[in-house]
Amino acid sequence: MRTEMMQRAPTFQTHVRAHEAVINNEAWYGDGEPSLGETFTAAKTAERHSVIIETLLRGAKRAAKAEDTNPANDYNDLADKLAACRAKARCGSLACAKCARAFQKAKVAAQQTIIAALQKDRSEKNLVFISVVPQGMTYKPGEFSRIDIVKANRWLKDALKPVGMKRAMLGSADLGWESRRGGNYLQLHWHLALWTSNPDQLEQKLKAIFLRAIKYERPVDVTAAHDHGFLAYMNKVIKLPDLLRRNRRNLPELLLALDQTQPLDLLVLSKLRLSAQNGGLVMRRITTKKRKSKRKTKQKTS
Ligand SMILES: [Zn+2]
Repeated sequence: MRTEMMQRAPTFQTHVRAHEAVINNEAWYGDGEPSLGETFTAAKTAERHSVIIETLLRGAKRAAKAEDTNPANDYNDLADKLAACRAKARCGSLACAKCARAFQKAKVAAQQTIIAALQKDRSEKNLVFISVVPQGMTYKPGEFSRIDIVKANRWLKDALKPVGMKRAMLGSADLGWESRRGGNYLQLHWHLALWTSNPDQLEQKLKAIFLRAIKYERPVDVTAAHDHGFLAYMNKVIKLPDLLRRNRRNLPELLLALDQTQPLDLLVLSKLRLSAQNGGLVMRRITTKKRKSKRKTKQKTS
């Protein structure tokens, strides 16, 4: 059954068990906890799912008219794959409104749990929600197939070394559609959560790394997280309702790019590892071998 389901999809090599845990558990497709808000109920997602398929078919017709059979075939194939997504035969595609939402819910649930657990040892620190927008990493229509989240996440982890990657951190890559000042492009950026004893200093360090992008006024934003409300936003990947309203023309190409990305590859984890557990995801602290006075040791991180 799995080979049939995965026919069109690229071969995913990471997080296979975690991926299957999510798509094989219908609870993530329903309206149980964690809630993603009234805009993202199962019913409203089903409506968007239909609109997405319609949009792909329309995109295929348009491409065929332009005598570009390549995307036309790809859009038709993806439409078929999404239309076939149902219980016990989930497509697992990030282009699928239903599956993308299931992964979002499973990620939020796992993150709520690990954040609560880590908070116990970090009562003197602040949990902060960070957005970083790197220069470049923008994609115009026609370039979306170049988006490589795995590579981008590796770049990010490297870029973040000056602020210390020895601390527990979690986050996700995110694709925002920018249509300001005549520009029309996707901006790849990240939302992260971590603990710090000095949010201002951290923000200064981050600003030194992520220099102001010309078209983006706020390359770095650090805000205190008073609850877990930011988690749904952090794991949204795209603003689907907004794209369906404002940008259906470019959506088929974006959906193809999303289909080439494994939902769990969007995650950015530092000192945490992801695995499958009880039909869901679990994140665990990676413990270092040498830790004699584990709680007393002052970390040099800010
Ligand atoms: Zn699906």
